[in-house]
Amino acid sequence: MPEGDTVWQAARRLHEALAGKALTRSDFRVPRYATVDLTGRTVLGTLPRGKHLLTRFEGGLTLHTHLRMEGAWKVYGTGERWRGGPAHQIRAVLSAADRTAVGYRLQVLELLRTSEEERVVGHLGPDLLGPDWDPERALANILADPARPLGEALLDQRNLAGIGNIYKSELCFLLGVTPWLPAGALPVDRAQKLPALAHRLLEANRDRPVRQTTGLHRHDLFVYGRAPRPCLRCHTPVRAADQGDGSRERPTYWCPTCQTGPAPAPGSPQHRRDRRRTA
Ligand SMILES: [Zn+2]
Repeated sequence: MPEGDTVWQAARRLHEALAGKALTRSDFRVPRYATVDLTGRTVLGTLPRGKHLLTRFEGGLTLHTHLRMEGAWKVYGTGERWRGGPAHQIRAVLSAADRTAVGYRLQVLELLRTSEEERVVGHLGPDLLGPDWDPERALANILADPARPLGEALLDQRNLAGIGNIYKSELCFLLGVTPWLPAGALPVDRAQKLPALAHRLLEANRDRPVRQTTGLHRHDLFVYGRAPRPCLRCHTPVRAADQGDGSRERPTYWCPTCQTGPAPAPGSPQHRRDRRRTA
């Protein structure tokens, strides 16, 4: 699952390529919109909301896309080769002047009235990279279900929008608790720090090509993708297990020494060996 900073970067790429320009071509390669042609409409801009992208056009139309696990928006200059994947994975093409934005593997692609955007993003909690960021509300949302494992609460975009798998693991490391700790059991001092910490991580990485949570010269991440290599802080082997509600299991990483709280035992069904590092 992409993190909020990935989506923010995609939104900025789209915005810089198309905002203020009239479309010279639009091509939606999904059956529902195969005949829709937005040629001639000016692109007003693209903004991120959590992990959703909203591209607005004149005339009150919005293109809503979501990258989910595999999706990407790429921008190419005139005559440049499109290298985002095979042609059958292209879901949308938007051209204006000298730039073409190509949406690959977009699992959510819908056109709606701009006035109806709330319908698709209205459920989101405060956006870590948005103008509506509200640390107190984000924390209150997380603590509203005290029995829920912290890792799951952090991933729930209704609580706060923008955290994916990587930041989930890294934040729990920075807070010194396992992702299985019930949210309500988080010590008060650390709960108070949580929103600011999450906000700082996403802000700091908003403009970085490589995600960095450690502030260390040679290591980008504390635990994510590191099992079973040693913890950067204490050298205990980092562990990995799946966390989820059964329908969606996410690879999750933690240091059993630096982080306190419940965790799956080695050899349990959720326990896993190292995972490929993915964004
Ligand atoms: Zn450690």
